[in-house]
Amino acid sequence: MKTEILKLLRGTDGYVSGQQISEMTGVSRTAVWKTVRRLQEEGYQVEAVRNRGYRIVDGPDVMTKEELESLMSTRWAGKNIVYYDVTDSTNLRARQLGDEGAPHGTLAVADRQTAGRGRRGRSWESPAGSSIYMSVLLRPEIPPDKAAMLTLVMACSAAEGIRGCLEQEVSGEIPQVQIKWPNDIIINGKKLVGILTEMSSQIDYINHVTVGVGINVNMTEFPEAISQTATSLRLECGHAVKRSPVIAAVMERLEANYDIFMKTQDLSGLMEKYSSMLVNRDREVRVIGVRESYQAHAEGITKTGELIVRREDGTVENICAGEVSVRGVYGYV
Ligand code: ATP
Repeated sequence: MKTEILKLLRGTDGYVSGQQISEMTGVSRTAVWKTVRRLQEEGYQVEAVRNRGYRIVDGPDVMTKEELESLMSTRWAGKNIVYYDVTDSTNLRARQLGDEGAPHGTLAVADRQTAGRGRRGRSWESPAGSSIYMSVLLRPEIPPDKAAMLTLVMACSAAEGIRGCLEQEVSGEIPQVQIKWPNDIIINGKKLVGILTEMSSQIDYINHVTVGVGINVNMTEFPEAISQTATSLRLECGHAVKRSPVIAAVMERLEANYDIFMKTQDLSGLMEKYSSMLVNRDREVRVIGVRESYQAHAEGITKTGELIVRREDGTVENICAGEVSVRGVYGYV
């Protein structure tokens, strides 16, 4: 009900009368009025003018199931939304939803995580009220060894979605949104987004894949350990940014990019886009593996998502994301 009224108010330039809303949603005018009151209590600025009706003036940074649903224009990505004020980790929630039979594209979103995670047991800073923590559940019909590419599909989608939002938010020069292979989104050399992909599978069959995305939206301070490497949309734009439209934009791009990926079950259709945003391309990098660590020149990615590097002795190698971390020679990128 709230979702429908929000959609109607947003989709109308000017006022919509209580009568019109009541006819379109099939509820009484009193119920419409009560819902508008609830929206106002949540912080939405909805003007109510006698004989004209209702008009939405501005929305605050509301992140609720209804707000997200009212902004989602997708067929499956983020269509089924489960929202948590606080949870341990949205990846764990999405995984559990997957085990319970939730549909492809289900999205778990939280305002705060108490146990946000990164790769290999690292943690993800997840304070309340300022950022996006979300995980999408996918049920791809592909062999398990291809699932790692979904991290790159999401990186591409998050970068494109965020760039689209920045185009709306920033009037001057738009900061460049780049990807640090394989899974981080970078602005001005600092990390804005982390992505964590996890899979539940049999030897030859994927039960489901969970792709978690943490986006620093309105954070202005970071713990000491990451203060030099982390940034947020607010710090980069100079003003606060609403979270729900960012989520909707990323889901919209994910739906399109996932369909492109599934056609060939590799990155051939996305490589050009991904490479154009790849911050490591044609740069010196330090490849940090379990057994060795070396300096090399990064040339690009393969269509299965490995990073192509040329070692100092001239040998060319394709490296898998699961095995290494990549850093810039002089810093994070
Ligand atoms: P790799 O290159 O191996 O992926 P990574 O350091 O980028 O290494 P991730 O698993 O992607 O690792 O992310 C977790 C790391 O990100 C943490 O160890 C921490 O250094 C950093 N980090 C944690 N929370 C945030 C945050 N909110 N914003 C930016 N960086 C963060």
